[in-house]
Amino acid sequence: MSQMPHASLRVVVLGFCLGLASMASAAEHVPEWPLDPGYPLDHIERVIPATGRMRCPKIAKVRYRGDTIRYHSPVFVNAHFRERLRRFERVVKQVAVQVYGRAPRRIRHMGTYNCRRITAWPTFLSEHGLANGIDVAGFDFGPASRKQRAAAPRGLRLGFKVRLARHWTATKGVGARHSRFLRTLARTLIARQDVFRVLLGPSYPGHRNHFHFDCAPWRLVDVFGT
Ligand SMILES: [Zn+2]
Repeated sequence: MSQMPHASLRVVVLGFCLGLASMASAAEHVPEWPLDPGYPLDHIERVIPATGRMRCPKIAKVRYRGDTIRYHSPVFVNAHFRERLRRFERVVKQVAVQVYGRAPRRIRHMGTYNCRRITAWPTFLSEHGLANGIDVAGFDFGPASRKQRAAAPRGLRLGFKVRLARHWTATKGVGARHSRFLRTLARTLIARQDVFRVLLGPSYPGHRNHFHFDCAPWRLVDVFGT
């Protein structure tokens, strides 16, 4: 659930970094893809003392259940990140319809707001501390409706669950299709500049079983490794 670059990993950091010179020096800069400008939380200081009591800036949070697709339980995010989640849900639906002929009924998350440091980088506030990130473990699909049955893959007409932990590396049977769904989803999100800026997944330490997505004022992508 940490989301900072690791010197030995393939890391892409784009755009400006707020006081992140030391972090950025360990990363690869790709200046041709600037961050989308004007995200309202970009000005917030993320650098904090490495030890001692920490406080998170006061950020107004909204309780959000999901729009195009619901979350299995409500999430608590800032209103600007809620808009990014709305875009995320539309991407999930689009990719799921391509792969399964229908959208999932629920997005299974592992948390949003959590006031804490980034474990591996204790001088930085986690984006979870700004209600500006989400951890996603998988997707729950309901049974295909009568209309959806024709498009539903064999063996997937009843409800089913897709989880990063079980299916990211699956190669056989319906598992291979789940792996394709998760990987296509990740690729589609990485290609979009207007959804998330930080996208971490199984290739990043501590993320074997979930995607971490956030909207920090830098770009960092490590989902597939090198
Ligand atoms: Zn996280």
